[in-house]
Amino acid sequence: MKKIIAANWKMNMTITETKNFLKKIVPKIKNTKNDVILCLPFTNIQTLKNMAKNTKIHIGAQNFYFEDKGAYTGEISSAMLKDVGVEYVIIGHSERREIFKEDDLLINNKIKKALKEKIIPILCVGESLKERQENKTFEKIKKQLANDLLGIESSQIKKIIIAYEPIWAIGTGKTATAGEAEEVCKYIKDFIGKEYGESIKKAMKVLYGGSVNNQNAKELFKKENIDGGLIGGASLKLEFIDMVNTKY
Ligand code: PEP
Repeated sequence: MKKIIAANWKMNMTITETKNFLKKIVPKIKNTKNDVILCLPFTNIQTLKNMAKNTKIHIGAQNFYFEDKGAYTGEISSAMLKDVGVEYVIIGHSERREIFKEDDLLINNKIKKALKEKIIPILCVGESLKERQENKTFEKIKKQLANDLLGIESSQIKKIIIAYEPIWAIGTGKTATAGEAEEVCKYIKDFIGKEYGESIKKAMKVLYGGSVNNQNAKELFKKENIDGGLIGGASLKLEFIDMVNTKY
């Protein structure tokens, strides 16, 4: 089945490194049957745009600010992203929530602005290890979804991609089992169904992220409620080519 394979490069790669890496991967993934989205650091997006011209590769960013313009030192607007060809943006990644103290209100504002500007949000949600050990996984996911999606119309909800990313699995090499990931992705879809209706639920895409690599991707992505993956570390390696081209 066709899956969404989204790369999150995080704060990695200079322009030179980006050119060298893309030279190796673009010819091999450009005709993939899966949907591939590369979310690069801002400074590398123009390079991706040039090198992925006339391919099926989609361009993504990892963040932006919801205001149009003005005195927001260090920030990037949605218009700036669109101008460089961005179609997708990661919002609410746990690293932004934790390190940069992004709260649900800010995330909600970013999702609304992205939708208004026709950039597809990839909203990340997920529990900490402590929350999982205390059996609070569903409670945490429900709270994040309720707050992050507050006030967004049903017709808009189906455009959002949700990525379930347990914090304890991100960059740790400790992947959720396919069963654990499927259970939460199903919970997310059921929540959407209950709040916004069955047709929205059917149209929604939910990804899993957290130490996905070429070894474990197949088992995870063949699950019914997992529509693909958000991939960090492994997206910076050549194994990403196989992950993009695999028939799941
Ligand atoms: C991520 O950055 O969203 C992620 C899932 O990272 P990793 O694949 O390295 O765990």
